[in-house]
Amino acid sequence: MRLVAGGATDRGRVRDGNEDAYLLEPSLALFAVADGMGGHRGGEVASATAVAALRTRIREGTALPDAVRAANEAVLAQAAADPELRGMGTTLTAALGDGSGLTLAHVGDSRAYLWRDGALHQVTADHSLVADLVRDGQITAAEATVHPYRSVVTRALGVEDALDVDIVHLALGPGDRVLLCSDGLPTMVPDERIAAVLATEPDPTRAANVLVDLANEAGGEDNVTVVVIDVVDDDPLARPLGAVVPAPPADPDRRAAPSDPAPGGIRAAPVPTPAEPGHRGRVRVPRGLRLAARSLWVAVPVLVILGFAVAATAYYARRTYFVAFDATERVTIYQGRPGGLLWWDATVRERTGLRRDELTEAAAGQVERSPSFARLGDAVAFVGRLDRRAAPAALTSPQTSPVPGPAPPAAPAPAPRPAP
Ligand code: MG
Repeated sequence: MRLVAGGATDRGRVRDGNEDAYLLEPSLALFAVADGMGGHRGGEVASATAVAALRTRIREGTALPDAVRAANEAVLAQAAADPELRGMGTTLTAALGDGSGLTLAHVGDSRAYLWRDGALHQVTADHSLVADLVRDGQITAAEATVHPYRSVVTRALGVEDALDVDIVHLALGPGDRVLLCSDGLPTMVPDERIAAVLATEPDPTRAANVLVDLANEAGGEDNVTVVVIDVVDDDPLARPLGAVVPAPPADPDRRAAPSDPAPGGIRAAPVPTPAEPGHRGRVRVPRGLRLAARSLWVAVPVLVILGFAVAATAYYARRTYFVAFDATERVTIYQGRPGGLLWWDATVRERTGLRRDELTEAAAGQVERSPSFARLGDAVAFVGRLDRRAAPAALTSPQTSPVPGPAPPAAPAPAPRPAP
């Protein structure tokens, strides 16, 4: 199996600069897209730093998940060394060939798609606020594309030491095409048009350029970056391998939960195991088992009733959200009840980029009261309304108010990028 790739990037029609970066490293079978954020030159530096660190580590033989963690550390170190870069961050979606397919490592709202037999499949799940709201059933996918917080990512490199990375393995065969892109493509160009380009433009570099042009023709509201990776048949006996193993849907309750055994660990797609060959037909049941089955007649109804009681309590314990400071004084949205209920602890739902020292005293007081909300969207809106001190905030769009003045308008909370 041989991989042939092409890429293109453009700042679009609205933004002043291009904070995206991409990487084509055929000798390592390594490809990546990164979408930086942080205003001024921060976003540009973050995405470039991340892909450079990734390439260095893969070249040294580091495994992909560890290489992504090293890229995170590189972005954090760079930001710590230069006050102008404070608060910068970046998404990263990387693909590494392994002879039978590609392993994808993914953080943020850039995307990977598989194009196979004319159909386009998204194989990464967005780590964004609107994606969470869609999964929660609070807004539709169509509403997400115009939502005021559509550019708020919930996971990025450069935010904290612990980094949760989605890992997806794609088994590939000749004719398959894998597309990596920043959010500037799917927010501007519908899936059907993307699929049509991949179906009609065989050269990966030209396909990437055509897709970038389409995003610009549609308005080019964001930087746009596209990498197309083609699987080429070197071996006439090679056949498509078929199986696609998607990442498990991100379970927000598990993300950085205090009891998580491996904080910042790597989330891996489960490898499906072949089902045990079933033994059908009549089977003679030993006497001991028959006795056990009889006692089940009594045990099962009791267990069912207990199960209902536990489920009802769990539902009550988990169905609200509240806002509070976490251990690092970051404004955080939790799911559950403050202090927990029975053995259901509240878990982190969204960790925002907003810190206590960025808030006015009154706003910090509001957060200390741990207000509760029935819906995640209401908790997010509350965070968006908190009054900030008049100082540049981490990971927000460029703000130019170096001297104390009137508080800037409330900005979206976690790791926002300048809205298009
Ligand atoms: Mg973008």
